[in-house]
Amino acid sequence: MLMALIPLGVSATEPVDYVSTLVGTQSKHSLSTGNTYPAIAMPWGMNFWSPQTGKMGDGWAYTYDADKIRGLKQTHQPSPWINDYGQFCILPTTRTVFNEDERASWFSHKAETARPYYYKVYLADYDIVAEVAPTERAAELRFTYPESNESRIVVDAFDGGSYVRIVDDRHIVGYTTKNSGGVPENFRNYFIIESDKPFTFTAVVKDGQIDDAATLAECNHAGAVVGFQTRRGEQVTLRVASSFISHEQALLNLKEVEGKAFDQICRQGRDRWNEILGRIEAKGRDTDQLRTFYSCLYRSVLFPRAFYEVNEKGEVVHYSPTTGEVCQGYYFTDTGFWDTFRSLFPLLNLLYPEMNAKMQEGLVNCYKESGFLPEWASPGHRGCMVGNNSASIVADAYLKGIRGYDIETLWEAVVHGANAVHPTVSSSGRLGYEYYNRLGYVPYNVGINENVARTLEYAYDDWCIYQLGLALGKKAKELKPFKERAMNYQKVFDPETKLMRGRNEDGTFQRPFSPLKWGDAFTEGNAWHYTWSVFHDPDGLIGLMGGKDVFVQMLDSVFNVPPLFDESYYGSVIHEIREMQIMNMGNYAHGNQPIQHMIYLYDWAAQPWKVQYWVREAMDRLYNSQPDGYCGDEDNGQTSAWYVFSAMGFYPVCPGSGQYAIGTPYFPEMTLHLPQGKILTIHASGNLADDRFVARMTFNGETYDRNYLEHADLVQGGIIDYHMQSTPNRERGIRESAAPYSFSKTQK
Ligand code: CA
Repeated sequence: MLMALIPLGVSATEPVDYVSTLVGTQSKHSLSTGNTYPAIAMPWGMNFWSPQTGKMGDGWAYTYDADKIRGLKQTHQPSPWINDYGQFCILPTTRTVFNEDERASWFSHKAETARPYYYKVYLADYDIVAEVAPTERAAELRFTYPESNESRIVVDAFDGGSYVRIVDDRHIVGYTTKNSGGVPENFRNYFIIESDKPFTFTAVVKDGQIDDAATLAECNHAGAVVGFQTRRGEQVTLRVASSFISHEQALLNLKEVEGKAFDQICRQGRDRWNEILGRIEAKGRDTDQLRTFYSCLYRSVLFPRAFYEVNEKGEVVHYSPTTGEVCQGYYFTDTGFWDTFRSLFPLLNLLYPEMNAKMQEGLVNCYKESGFLPEWASPGHRGCMVGNNSASIVADAYLKGIRGYDIETLWEAVVHGANAVHPTVSSSGRLGYEYYNRLGYVPYNVGINENVARTLEYAYDDWCIYQLGLALGKKAKELKPFKERAMNYQKVFDPETKLMRGRNEDGTFQRPFSPLKWGDAFTEGNAWHYTWSVFHDPDGLIGLMGGKDVFVQMLDSVFNVPPLFDESYYGSVIHEIREMQIMNMGNYAHGNQPIQHMIYLYDWAAQPWKVQYWVREAMDRLYNSQPDGYCGDEDNGQTSAWYVFSAMGFYPVCPGSGQYAIGTPYFPEMTLHLPQGKILTIHASGNLADDRFVARMTFNGETYDRNYLEHADLVQGGIIDYHMQSTPNRERGIRESAAPYSFSKTQK
């Protein structure tokens, strides 16, 4: 009842104030509550910064339970499993020390401020306050020292081949090569550090040896320790920039902070974040719910990272992570399309289409430079996950009207990727395409793992290519294979169990078969999770199962089946399994991506109130604004974008269809600031804490009885009014015509 006391006028006028960058940081290998780190960065910024608690090279770079900070790290890590590249760190101390264990300082979250545009921490062992304020490619670091004759700045360029040179009494340059794959031989992150206080002590560090007679270190693990005397409270500001291209370009990138005071960089960052986060104004409900919402929106606008720079002529250029050359044009990276095609890219298409236009140009460049679109990029092609979902990324953007890039080259790219596999990175293109094209599925028994997952995603991807081809006016003959293969999900459906199941080359289904077995024919999930991966044709799936009643029963079963599992494929309980087991939601595994659209499928089966029930359960039980705020890997905006969409009251089950399945709005009022000055207002009447069910709704004053919204309508702006109640309305959204898009229905 507290809720009723919160006035509706409590408004997120400064959205960034609601963001906690620590959500999801209380994670470990065996259990992920997000596997995030506090990214101190601009939206889609080239360089992120993060306090580093973990050892050099540890993907768990910042963990909430840690006691000590080893450095303030420039990072480009998309996920602990993929790990980092282009990384180095800086730490102020009051001792001449370098070793990462010896220099680490105790800290407390109570003496830590972690905002997107600003980070501050008290390094207790040195009595130093350290602050960071980033720009896109540079940052200012401000250290408040105690009185000390031995005030120091440690620069650690990490191992694997690095270089540090003390240029003069205020400048250090260096490069780091430490990476985790996905880079050419010549990969380097060139950095420059400028101090506003002259060094009176300098030393370089060569593989652990501190040498105060030398000014250059070029070895496996290079670093520097520089310093001066300070009086108590004296502030020293470092201006830091880096480049993947050259030291000269790093110097150009340093202009982002040139002549600007620390507080000015902070204000600028704060304004930028408010502009981006403010595209959605959420109102009402309590502060915690606004915190969860805006923390999710913050995570939705970090990746894919801008990997381009602006040269001295003002041209957009990038270091190609596939060829090692400097090329013209935009480039973005650090995302896995297997995760982010689902709702992260659709969120960009709705709210930030100007960014996705640049990202699409980046895809054109990636294809031209490497011969393939990426599926998992960091920064070059990485072998990770399955599917060919770049087709969805390309199709959804174009079909939603994003323009200004070379779509014909992308058409060539998606057609090529559907009929080829990258020679060295088997997750780019389509592994098993020869089988798939011949049989309509990737067989279970031909040595290609996760074959049903691949088949289901390829079929959806084929539908995406078909839709894109139609929009581009491609000839029926060229489109025919894609149109036909879009139905290939049928090939791995087992009528006996009514589940997707591995299928052998001879047409027989895999034996033995356990619907609870994770991996094997599936990717980080089991048959209960993957059977729903028919994004483009739920009605076809309903038909295969034997009608809506059976379909609903199967959906219900996901929650009703106890959280039993078979982990034998992995040989141990992977964290995604554990995250399912402990949530008290049966076999529903929201902590991983394959099932994240499943709840919305009740909209196709005339039971939209079950969408409303379960979406609200998932939002309230599986997300919060605390360090354990996610229920599994956040995964570069995908799991966050699910929440952002769900809070709006709709979700893009099938990117490429132009539709959103309707769920249940979370806030009494939400205003979306869309391109061309259009405004979409989403009202929800009732006490939303108790009233999760849609009694009725109107769109621009007209009664709206469908279970879906059209993108084309939303971007015109207007008012959606949801009338909420505490019990299901079993009369609304039950007509056949209320169901959202299904491909096979359009073919009848
Ligand atoms: Ca995942």
